[in-house]
Amino acid sequence: MKDTKYEDLNKTLAAVGKAVFVNFYYDFKDFSISKDELAKKILSENPGSKSDSQNFRIPRARHIFELGQEKEALRIIIESKRVDKKAIEKAKNILVKEIIREDFQTESVEERQFIEHFNQEIQYDTTLKEAPLIVERTQYIYPRKQSEARSALRRAQYLCEVDSSHFVFKRRNRSDNYTEPHHLVPLSAHRDFPGIDLDREQNIVSLCSNCHNMLHYGASYKEILYELYIQRRELLKQIGIVISFEQLVSYY
Ligand SMILES: [Zn+2]
Ligand SMILES: [Zn+2]
Repeated sequence: MKDTKYEDLNKTLAAVGKAVFVNFYYDFKDFSISKDELAKKILSENPGSKSDSQNFRIPRARHIFELGQEKEALRIIIESKRVDKKAIEKAKNILVKEIIREDFQTESVEERQFIEHFNQEIQYDTTLKEAPLIVERTQYIYPRKQSEARSALRRAQYLCEVDSSHFVFKRRNRSDNYTEPHHLVPLSAHRDFPGIDLDREQNIVSLCSNCHNMLHYGASYKEILYELYIQRRELLKQIGIVISFEQLVSYY
């Protein structure tokens, strides 16, 4: 039943401490940070806390992430009356970022479809086809302009912008190298940039297949992201996208 699940989550949160859950959210989420390391950090920032209480706090907090209940936990905290306002504000901010991250996952599917389309030069497919099954969805669909992607790739001379010495191959039906366009600030982050078009070549990087997949699916994506961020920071500013590296990472 949904109610007992909610009750359990509430109990777990109480054991972790709602403010602690929020204040150390990204540390709990990052399983590569060891329990001891994290316990030290929590203690140093909360001198009032008992050292042995971390022993049950940390695994419980991480269990929330294992169950995928972190967004639900944030919602509970946001509605709590006894949590201090600062923590509630922080919880709201994190929740917005998490929703953007979730959208970014679906966005990468759209991106793949766009790339497929982009890769086929414009030619008519004349085979007869059955009508597609149309699925109603409530998500945003982000329009992407081929012209912006094309000029971004051209500007990068069809090389990988993480490192121009990365391996690229020639396209089959053109004389250019094959690289893929990627929006550095994901289109799903549009809520944080009202009125600004994120589909601009300043925000599109040219990547070799390997870097592109690493950026979406790899463990060491932060290094690639940082390299690209440093290169693009000023250009992004020029089109009204002012963003810190921390904010950018939060979308990935
Ligand atoms: Zn991408
Ligand atoms: Zn590369």
